Amino acid sequence: MSATLPGSGPAEDWDAVLVGGGIMSATLAVLLGEAQPDWRILVVERLDRAGLESSSGWHNAGTGHAGLCEFNYTPRRSDGSVDASSAVRIGEQFVSSLLLWAHLVERGVLGPPEAFVRAVPHCAVGWGADGVAYLRARHEALRGHPLFADAEFTDDAAVLASWLPLMFEGRPDAEPVAVTRAPQGTDVDFGVLTRQLLSALEQRGGSVRTAQEVTSLHRTRGRWQLDVRDRSTGARSRLRAPYVFVGAGGGTLPLLQSARIPEIRRYGAFPISGQFLRADRPELVAAHRAKVYGHAAPGEPTVSLPHLDLRVVDGRESLVFGPFAAFSPRFLTRGRRTDLLRSVRRGNLPVLLASTRDNRGLMGYLVRQVTQSRAARMARLRRFVPTARDEDWTLITAGQRVQILKETAGRGTMVGFGTELVTSAGGSLAGLLGASPGASTAASTMLDVLATCFPQRMAEWEPRLSRLAPSADVVRRLDPDRLAGELARARAVLGLTPRAAVPGAEAAG
Ligand SMILES: Cc1cc2nc3c(=O)[nH]c(=O)nc-3n(C[C@H](O)[C@H](O)[C@H](O)COP(=O)(O)OP(=O)(O)OC[C@H]3O[C@@H](n4cnc5c(N)ncnc54)[C@H](O)[C@@H]3O)c2cc1C
Repeated sequence: MSATLPGSGPAEDWDAVLVGGGIMSATLAVLLGEAQPDWRILVVERLDRAGLESSSGWHNAGTGHAGLCEFNYTPRRSDGSVDASSAVRIGEQFVSSLLLWAHLVERGVLGPPEAFVRAVPHCAVGWGADGVAYLRARHEALRGHPLFADAEFTDDAAVLASWLPLMFEGRPDAEPVAVTRAPQGTDVDFGVLTRQLLSALEQRGGSVRTAQEVTSLHRTRGRWQLDVRDRSTGARSRLRAPYVFVGAGGGTLPLLQSARIPEIRRYGAFPISGQFLRADRPELVAAHRAKVYGHAAPGEPTVSLPHLDLRVVDGRESLVFGPFAAFSPRFLTRGRRTDLLRSVRRGNLPVLLASTRDNRGLMGYLVRQVTQSRAARMARLRRFVPTARDEDWTLITAGQRVQILKETAGRGTMVGFGTELVTSAGGSLAGLLGASPGASTAASTMLDVLATCFPQRMAEWEPRLSRLAPSADVVRRLDPDRLAGELARARAVLGLTPRAAVPGAEAAG
């Protein structure tokens, strides 16, 4: 198992090493274990426990993003109509995740599901005449699609107050307002899910090591070598594998830079921390049983739209409102102050400068966000909760969003949404950059990683993988009845709908 390399100390051999114990590596590890059960798979995590960075319950909004309520997936065209294609895409990606989790629960390797996923309706709110017109167009564009068929639209004050009492009971009738409500929405604790997935990996023979930080990566004699530091003892060791996936969240860019692969040269990154206002008072929580997403105010960018969410973290219910942007030069919440500075290289400096130059509006918005007073944050909250009292809401810091900077058509771009897979050396090294839409898409994103990195094995792997989860492309091709049936069954297994409501569930269950 161990081999001594001249001048480099002993290296421990694995078939695949996955760096980072977040939702992405955890999902990939389970899929890879299914595809190739005889491979020795190791997940290496720098913290004492997995799922404590972006995937932690308190470090993200826990929205099972499915396109049901987020305006950023339904941009408006110049004629006022709405382009629904991104919402449909993310809806399909989320189906892939739901089916994966349900299959693992049915096998008894994941669960109990109520520890990581709950039914919480997803609502979108349109403010003012223009916002209502936008919401109506969004609803029209989506409602013909089977994934969105259940969504309801209302601008009736009484219905609004019954759906969302905290927001609309007793609200003065000052401006037009409308809401869509999708009862199939979810709240997900991705931290708990990550740890459950890693336990599933261990049950089938994979390994997870915590408090082990990968400090650098390099390729020697056709294999990747990873230098590792034990954060509790300081001891150094070396791992070796033909395949490495870097799912290190904010730690991905520095590691890919350490590997000196040409594919990473022109990428930069800019960290933005998220903050939320959080309330735990039971009366408030009881009066808001949904996740409600708003649209951007005129002149504001669409990178982070305000939302008021019911959250269930570690089994406890709270409300959160945000996100508000904040600045920290760290790439991980428990990273180093020097992360941003150390990421600047000769190859990516032009991209960083161009991104600053070409995104002045966004930069200005971020500066305004970062310097925002508590009173200004409360004022934004009162748009949603007119009766919000200062003493009920505490500002909490969420995860670091390490936005990708790259050059697109000669301009510096800050990639607000989307993740990017960077691969090198024939797919033997892959790293995931970017933080949105993220966790919700883990199953289909990781199936895509496997297809990209192992094209020659997919014919053999596909039948095994499809037992666990279809890719988003396969979901797209399902006929509506089959899609509805699979989804209803998965939702029942995950406890998101009453089991008796699903035809055939008793027999199958
Ligand atoms: C404010 C905010 C709100 C969000 N809201 C949502 C939401 O509502 N719904 C949604 O689906 N997504 C949301 N996201 C995105 C989502 O949280 C992320 O996309 C997802 O958690 C990323 O998972 P990951 O596994 O890539 O990274 P992480 O969970 O960050 O995991 C990476 C792991 O790698 C470890 N690591 C780093 N460097 C090293 C190293 N050198 N060696 C070993 N280990 C290392 C870290 O400690 C960490 O545990 C949100 C993100 C933010 C910031």
